[in-house]
Amino acid sequence: MTKVSIIVPCFNEEESIPLFYQEATGVLKATGKTYEILFVDDGSTDKTPEIIRELAGKDEHILYLSFSKNFGKEAAMLAGLENCHGEYVAMMDADLQDPPSLLPEMIECLESHEYDCVATRRANRTGEPKIRSWCAKKFYKIVNRFSDAEIVDGARDFRLMNRDMVNAILSMNEYSRFSKGIFGWVGFRTKWLSFDNAERVAGKSKWCFWKLFQYALDGIIGFSEAPLHLASWIGSGMTLFSFLAMLVIAIRKLFLNGTAAGWALAICVIVFMGGIQLIALGIIGQYLAKTYWETKRRPHYIAADSNIDDVKKIG
Ligand code: UDP
Ligand code: MG
Repeated sequence: MTKVSIIVPCFNEEESIPLFYQEATGVLKATGKTYEILFVDDGSTDKTPEIIRELAGKDEHILYLSFSKNFGKEAAMLAGLENCHGEYVAMMDADLQDPPSLLPEMIECLESHEYDCVATRRANRTGEPKIRSWCAKKFYKIVNRFSDAEIVDGARDFRLMNRDMVNAILSMNEYSRFSKGIFGWVGFRTKWLSFDNAERVAGKSKWCFWKLFQYALDGIIGFSEAPLHLASWIGSGMTLFSFLAMLVIAIRKLFLNGTAAGWALAICVIVFMGGIQLIALGIIGQYLAKTYWETKRRPHYIAADSNIDDVKKIG
């Protein structure tokens, strides 16, 4: 029988996990499928590890993997994919913002063999701070304009995939992982489901503005060379412009008896050019930094504790 694996990255989710466990188990049992729920504890500092160990002790469907420290949600999702056993694999947040009630429909959809993946997106962003929604909208616009991977606005990481797609994702071994881009890049026939945004059941969001900004940069730089091209284009434009300006000044001085522009203008131009050069250098630096981390080939995560037999401890 087809086995369904649910991967749940958890970072300080002591209040949400029991609620998630109850709701997800209810839904999965009703489908009649064999299933496993794999909690990946991303170095939590609260009672999360104890809670998932306790659940695993009383329910054989529960697997867990605890990291040696916080490696981030991307690493937790990768560890889940590497260590789960199902033919159908779903990724879900612990805070019930990804409704388990959608699972039966998603499973049915994959069983029809018309699709390899059922992905979800939020139809709205109610309950979210306005500024965050605005930034998110802009981010999707920029990323889709400039990057190779199509990223759907409002797409959640919550999706159910078949084994072929999971294996394709696992074959992408980059150090800086940006799953929303990876899902799009590997392709496969994907069906989209929309659902109304739900607020998290308990606890706090782990994202702050700076983390989100960094995440957006990862998305753009990981899947696009456009910023590098932009730097060259701006550079070329400025060179052409300054060449023409020099020509105009020379002609005015030589033939029209005019005066050269004043020193204030000269300083403005110098500062402006300096700024442009630093921006270009910064963009190149971002790519260089990414390459630097890739060449180190550090593991994405280190597992400290698990109840999975064939666990991959370092991934
Ligand atoms: N998460 C994680 N590691 C982190 C941050 C978050 O595993 O470093 C998990 C978190 O426990 C949750 C999911 O990723 O299950 C989504 O996090 P959150 O709800 O904070 O994000 P939001 O829904 O606000 O985008
Ligand atoms: Mg959440």
